[in-house]
Amino acid sequence: MNRLRIVSIISIVAFAFLSSSPGPALNKKSLEVRSTRDRVANSWIEQVYSPFDTLRTDLSDYIWPTNASTVITSSFADYRRTHLHEGIDISTNNQKGYPVYASRDGYVSRIFISRRGYGKMLTVHHPDGFVTMYAHLQRFMSPIDDYVKKIQKRTRHYSLETDLEPSMFPVSKGDVIAYTGNTGIGAAHLHFEVRDSSFNPINPLLLPHIISALSDEVPPEFQMVAFTPLDRSSKVLGRNKTWTGDAKKEGSGSYTLSQPVKLSGSVGISVRATDRADVLKYRTGCYRFEMYVDGQLLFSSAKNYILESESHLVSNYYDKNLIRLRKGRFEKLYVESGNRLPFYNRLPEGAGTIETSEFQPGEHVLKIATWDLSGNESTLTTILVMGSSSAQ
Ligand SMILES: [Zn+2]
Repeated sequence: MNRLRIVSIISIVAFAFLSSSPGPALNKKSLEVRSTRDRVANSWIEQVYSPFDTLRTDLSDYIWPTNASTVITSSFADYRRTHLHEGIDISTNNQKGYPVYASRDGYVSRIFISRRGYGKMLTVHHPDGFVTMYAHLQRFMSPIDDYVKKIQKRTRHYSLETDLEPSMFPVSKGDVIAYTGNTGIGAAHLHFEVRDSSFNPINPLLLPHIISALSDEVPPEFQMVAFTPLDRSSKVLGRNKTWTGDAKKEGSGSYTLSQPVKLSGSVGISVRATDRADVLKYRTGCYRFEMYVDGQLLFSSAKNYILESESHLVSNYYDKNLIRLRKGRFEKLYVESGNRLPFYNRLPEGAGTIETSEFQPGEHVLKIATWDLSGNESTLTTILVMGSSSAQ
């Protein structure tokens, strides 16, 4: 890795933390800002980029939690039918039995065993209140495993959920705490989460030693763009119906659509895009999006964290209609009313929605940019033809 690359990663991580707001209190504050529907003025765009919080944890203290691989098969906030993915999935090469390391010093604070979901899971509580979670485990390290077996014998149940005292199983960073497995739902892999002191899931790839373990030099890939009329009088290419177009690759990290898209009224844009690292077949979600019309930023989102109580709000972010139509997982580049996900920082409700009445009729340039957390960027540029509803 050259120096420039390291600098760019550091600046992205710094940006991510400066612009994120973990914790319900800050979310309330941002809701107040969102109540003004001031999408045209630049003032709120400046707010998006103004630092107003930092995470209170030693970011560089976390280590990669296994020697199974440094390959991610699913990223943070990826689509799940009932929730947003609250951690990352690490490949264990479809095998079981790799050691799982405590990512930092702390103590085993919780054991959870179920035949479904996360299977065998444990959490490690760190001195600053942050928590790491490790799931789908084959088994725990022997003193913990012995303890679990005793409880299972006493209760005569396989399933259990128990909180542990700090003195019972203290761990040091790098200690083997368990072995990877395939318990619960899915094939063998390690599900790894980082949570803040309010138990809100944080994107683990924001941590420098976690992201630097990956080697990703491949820019994200655009697959499709969807244009959805947001009310009955709005139209896309003359029809009151969602239109999807394939992304056409023009060069490395550069995409377009095969035709200009005529819009009238109120239209939401969503994209299907994925990221992958070198030579690896796994496609994961992108980290960050921005959308511009004629160079003006209309929308930005970043998957920094999710509030614990809001991870079920999956349809606020992913377009469920397009998933139902088997078109794939489209990510909405507009903030619908009632969307409280913290991906948009201080963007107001309605941000990202194209209101054609706010533009001069005729051609405009749409640019969508996306990044992975290694700093690779892709853009899709195409022409929008803005019309008025009455002219259709
Ligand atoms: Zn997972």
